[in-house]
Amino acid sequence: MKHQLFLIHYLKGKADMLMKDYSAAENEYKQAVEGFPKDNAEKGDWMVHLGDAMYMNGKKDEGSLHRFIYLLIALCSFIPYNYAMTSQQPFHCVEGIILKVIPFGDYDQILSLFTAETGLIKLFMKGSRSRKRGLQGICIPLTGVQVVYKEKNSELFSGHEMTLIESYRFLRSDLNHLNAACTMLNALESTQLPCKPAPQLYALLLYFLARIPDCADLAALTSSFRLKLLRHEGLIAFPLECLFCQAILKEKAFHFQGESFCEPHRTAGTIEFDEEEIRLLEHLATCQSFQGIATIVLSDQFKGKFNFVFT
Ligand SMILES: [Zn+2]
Repeated sequence: MKHQLFLIHYLKGKADMLMKDYSAAENEYKQAVEGFPKDNAEKGDWMVHLGDAMYMNGKKDEGSLHRFIYLLIALCSFIPYNYAMTSQQPFHCVEGIILKVIPFGDYDQILSLFTAETGLIKLFMKGSRSRKRGLQGICIPLTGVQVVYKEKNSELFSGHEMTLIESYRFLRSDLNHLNAACTMLNALESTQLPCKPAPQLYALLLYFLARIPDCADLAALTSSFRLKLLRHEGLIAFPLECLFCQAILKEKAFHFQGESFCEPHRTAGTIEFDEEEIRLLEHLATCQSFQGIATIVLSDQFKGKFNFVFT
């Protein structure tokens, strides 16, 4: 789990760089690098990013020097770490979370894996159900893994080595926690196109999974995840607008299959959301801190409407 928290800092640093907030990026990268437990190529790579952030943050001499030293470290540690992969392209090594597992034949499985850098990938794991390979306890949904895979001529890649990073044992002892986690995994599985990188969604997933035990109402967390996912995909935007006339919907909004309408343009079967419910939707979709979700308890009426329209 700890390893994944450093990854979140790293991904937040990347997002800050994109937003040109170099001071925040430097801070995030620092936390990622300083806490990272292993001296390997990944850490070296993160150090290079830290050097970049320092350089952009005005610490030009220090940043350049850091960057140079870090590049050397990255290169040196990269050689033994990834030699087998770089010398026999196209092997790749990624970290991800298993969203879904489909048994295939007597011994094989097909995995849906959600990764930060490559998005959703499908892996054919030959022999993963056989005792010999020792992967039976790893190839299960809601498991963080590192995988070495090879691309094929189809969307189904060939999985090779796999190691466990996080088993999410802390979510498996409570059915409600497990259910909330699976709701988020299913939402990703059903919306993400193969190989479309989504580093921010990946960071959000890791963060939300870690915070499941801290929620007053898990429906608030899963609804927020769903809305943030829809926003990420460009399927919903705030303030809400009528699909037909683009009127801003503040006091009343009518929803049908994820689309919003004003009262004159509502169609049969639309569900009405009042002013308070519209504000709640916007809050769940846009809030930037976990504290904004942790204490919310959704009414049964809101949950019913939400599930009908957005899931
Ligand atoms: Zn309208």
